[in-house]
Amino acid sequence: MPTLSIIATPIGNLEDITLRALRVLKEADLVLCEDTRTTAKLLQKYEIKVPTMSYHAHSKLAKVDKIFALLEEGKNLALVSDAGTPCISDPGVLLVAQVRARFGDAVSISPIPGPSAVISALSASGLPASDFLFLGFLPHKKGRETLFKEIAASTRTVAFYESPHRIEKALASLSLHTGEDRRTVVARELTKIHEEFFSGTAAEAQAFFTKNPGKVRGEFVVIVAPQA
Ligand code: SAM
Repeated sequence: MPTLSIIATPIGNLEDITLRALRVLKEADLVLCEDTRTTAKLLQKYEIKVPTMSYHAHSKLAKVDKIFALLEEGKNLALVSDAGTPCISDPGVLLVAQVRARFGDAVSISPIPGPSAVISALSASGLPASDFLFLGFLPHKKGRETLFKEIAASTRTVAFYESPHRIEKALASLSLHTGEDRRTVVARELTKIHEEFFSGTAAEAQAFFTKNPGKVRGEFVVIVAPQA
């Protein structure tokens, strides 16, 4: 049976890849990559020589047709993103839906689990994580402030992704709506050399990054404790 394997790849440290992921990548007929240059670094490190093809949010329908044709020929395809688990705030959701709709049980769509920034951040945050709300990237404009109000009112731990361009603004908005007793954890550059966790109120976190502009770079996950 042809397969489409959804493979999690490292979020920074290239050692964070499972033995199964390496085997499935090695055995794939084609690896669909968000950016073939990024994936090439991983494949090179593990001396994996497989053909790659780009597949991202803006891929044209013709590319999906090509993927369909390969699956019809019985090929084994792998889908990876630049970092972490594909489809989690990353390209691939539509492709998986389309392959499921077109082939049903005739194609085996299988996850090869591994790193994801949100899970990694939560696991080391010290905040309640048996039940949480993940918002991915917040909208840049419309609905953004409403979401901050919802985060402040949440009785569940809330996690979201933020870019260095907006992290200080996000913490400022959070601090407007959350009180002194509300712990906020900012996880930065997970699994990389400059990995760092800041834990305090949103106002304290904002002040920390304002005081340390050199740390307003890299990749961020923000986690807000639930309302008591
Ligand atoms: N699919 C990925 C996953 O499973 O984590 C997420 C991809 S999303 C396009 C990229 C965002 O994830 C970044 O902007 C950042 O918010 C977060 N992220 C990815 N790698 C990270 C890291 N090493 N440290 C902190 N956050 C990270």
